[in-house]
Amino acid sequence: MDHPSPFDLTGRTALVTGSSRGIGKALATGLAKAGAAVLLHGLDPQRLEATRRELATEFGDGKVGSVSFDITSEPAVSAGIAQAEESFGPLDILVNNAGIQHRVPLLDLDIDDWNRVLATDLTSAFLVGREAARRMLERKRGKIINIGSVQSDLARPTIGAYTAAKGGLRNLTRAMTAEWAAHGLQVNGIAPGYIHTEMTQVLVDDEAFNAWILGRTPAGRWGTVDDLSGPVTWLASEASNYVNGQTIFIDGGMTTVV
Ligand code: NDP
Repeated sequence: MDHPSPFDLTGRTALVTGSSRGIGKALATGLAKAGAAVLLHGLDPQRLEATRRELATEFGDGKVGSVSFDITSEPAVSAGIAQAEESFGPLDILVNNAGIQHRVPLLDLDIDDWNRVLATDLTSAFLVGREAARRMLERKRGKIINIGSVQSDLARPTIGAYTAAKGGLRNLTRAMTAEWAAHGLQVNGIAPGYIHTEMTQVLVDDEAFNAWILGRTPAGRWGTVDDLSGPVTWLASEASNYVNGQTIFIDGGMTTVV
């Protein structure tokens, strides 16, 4: 007898923003491993195509596509989501992952940099989420997963704009739930802790910072990108159909202790 797994994503289509590299690439790979067809996304065309080729080699050309648009531009988002669905089929899963960081104390923070971080890390999830949801709501089915951070709940000096944006993203996840859950959409988020990536290698190499992370994290280690793909795959699957509006902290326990 056939026993389909509720975690199986075969037949589903997923768009992961900012998946030409970093965490988004790992999340797209995890979704593809669970059976989904994945649309990769980024701005730099060469990097995007290189990643598409890499994943297509592993999962097959028909299972991996790509689309490029600026997530901060309303017309670009509308055109990009339309192109995504025309070229790859209806989206079942959207992961709002693309984001940027900008490290400056609040007193020195320029308004243009504040606006750039808020546009990329918060407003983009509204724009891309709204455009995808318009289509998902017609089909009465869809999963939206917003990628926050431990800064969705906690602050640190020098990253005020990022902290405001990621905190806003947690409440946007709840706002989307309030309006869309009754119509078949599950909107949730994950809040990754300190993840060892190319971007954070410099922090791993900083002896004092590394010691602080290891001491501050109950699990006693940095996270890896693979630590994030299981929870995202779960949130993208039917196994999480009654999970609504939650942000799941994946931080080795960092935010549960003082
Ligand atoms: P990276 O800097 O490695 O990758 C960012 C991705 O977003 C790239 O694909 C980039 O495209 C794309 N992107 C950026 N701006 C835009 C834009 N305006 N329009 C379209 N695409 C854009 O990011 P990370 O993997 O480090 O982070 C991914 C997410 O995870 C972010 O939301 C981040 O806040 C969150 N996070 C990261 C942590 C970490 O330790 N790294 C910890 C906690 C949360 P291109 O390649 O073309 O530039």
